[in-house]
Amino acid sequence: MAKADIGLIGLAVMGQNLALNINDRGYSIAVFNRTVEKVDDFLAGPAGGRETVYGAHTLEEFVSLLLRPRKIILMVKAGAVVDEFIRKLLPLLEPGDLIIDGGNSHFSDSTRRTRELAEKGILFIGTGISGGEEGARHGPSMMPGGNPEAWPLVKEIFQAISAKTPDGQPCCDWVGPEGAGHFVKMVHNGIEYGDMQLIAEVYHIMKSLLGLSHDRMSEIFDRWNRGKLGSYLIEITRDILAYKDEDGSPLVEKILDAAGQKGTGKWTGIEALDHGVPVTLIVEAVFARSLSAFKDERVHAAELLGEPLVPWKGTEEERSRLVDDLEKALLAAKMVSYAQGFMLMREASRTYGWDLDFGKIATLWRAGCIIRSVFLDTIREAYRNEPGLSNLLLAPYFKETILEAEASWRRVVSTAVTHGIPTPALSSALSFLDGYRTSRLPANLIQAQRDYFGAHTYERVDRPRGQFFHTNWTGRG
Ligand code: NAP
Repeated sequence: MAKADIGLIGLAVMGQNLALNINDRGYSIAVFNRTVEKVDDFLAGPAGGRETVYGAHTLEEFVSLLLRPRKIILMVKAGAVVDEFIRKLLPLLEPGDLIIDGGNSHFSDSTRRTRELAEKGILFIGTGISGGEEGARHGPSMMPGGNPEAWPLVKEIFQAISAKTPDGQPCCDWVGPEGAGHFVKMVHNGIEYGDMQLIAEVYHIMKSLLGLSHDRMSEIFDRWNRGKLGSYLIEITRDILAYKDEDGSPLVEKILDAAGQKGTGKWTGIEALDHGVPVTLIVEAVFARSLSAFKDERVHAAELLGEPLVPWKGTEEERSRLVDDLEKALLAAKMVSYAQGFMLMREASRTYGWDLDFGKIATLWRAGCIIRSVFLDTIREAYRNEPGLSNLLLAPYFKETILEAEASWRRVVSTAVTHGIPTPALSSALSFLDGYRTSRLPANLIQAQRDYFGAHTYERVDRPRGQFFHTNWTGRG
């Protein structure tokens, strides 16, 4: 007999926590997993004693437990597994039923699935879910997109289980049609890569150049966490730096310096290249992880070429000034990173006709997700004050903060360069900012070169745009 408000397939860590979260909010839920023993384990373990969590051992049984229109969340491995479950579910569903993919799917798959399922009368939502297992359990940030007709069916449940901003707004709202939700989740993850790389570069300068102890660094991150940089990632960095291994030394120094990645940062970079949007900081962050993974090669190169570090010879006063500079540089570079991420979303919104609401997106990320921070309030405000804002960097608060931080930021980057500390994210963000506000870049020379070797033509500054010229640069026929 049908009795579950919603169903969930995929009882790995995310699925289990999401199911418990949904049930905590008063919704009955049916669950299924390919390996059916996990259904029994879940019912006997984490969901033990819950009368409105129902387990199923077959997909048919699972579907029969769902109230109509049926709402089914897939929390399975992204990719072909999602299509496989959709294929198996289709014969069991009827028009008006809804399939929701809550995994980390590529947005183009969500676009395709929305269209394919619409042809069969089945509704589809592809929703980004951020916040890891903790978020799934107690309130994630959720970014749903897909078939707009599907949203009213789950709005109440989704907003009930999502995180809430400090002023009580749900960190879940409709993002846009087709793959819009997963696109925004992808950019979220790209920004996460950027934030983490920026923090790692600051840590590198503090530790290797300034010689600060881990406890001192932890104190500094604690102080920053109480200011404009206040965020989940700064908070966990504080805790990580303070954490001691069994022998009393900082555990972080025993961790191999080769960063992993699951691909959403790379996807953001690929989209940036495809759309021609200079998302330089996130791409540098992805490449920094790639470079870190060449551990053996780096060790060999360090032996042959020598470590680049030039020891710090500054005074105590200069050391503490550089720490203050780092705080400002980190905030300013973060602003550039978010501005770039929003540039990419703006371009995608135009290309795909999604009509994204950028202030709303900042609200979705305000709590529950990995990049949650007080800083997102300033983005929300910027778009609220000027909905047609062309670039975050032009909003008054951003402009003032960056100009105020500029001298500090240049000191940080130049100190890093002269002392041999790699700072790809901090440096590329500054280069972007300088390029973005340079009214005449040297691209005229590139155009001349292109015309010289390939007759690609050029426009002239002394003629109207849209007229193209070619020069016979060598005078030869
Ligand atoms: P996962 O390891 O990505 O996926 C495990 C689930 O997929 C299990 O239910 C597993 O079933 C099922 N599965 C795997 N291969 C299958 C196949 N060939 N056929 C049928 N089922 C298959 O689990 P997760 O970490 O909980 O993540 C779930 C989704 O959320 C993923 O898309 C992930 O990227 C996304 N996500 C994860 C996090 C996180 O922090 N972990 C955060 C946000 C989003 P069996 O038990 O039978 O193997």
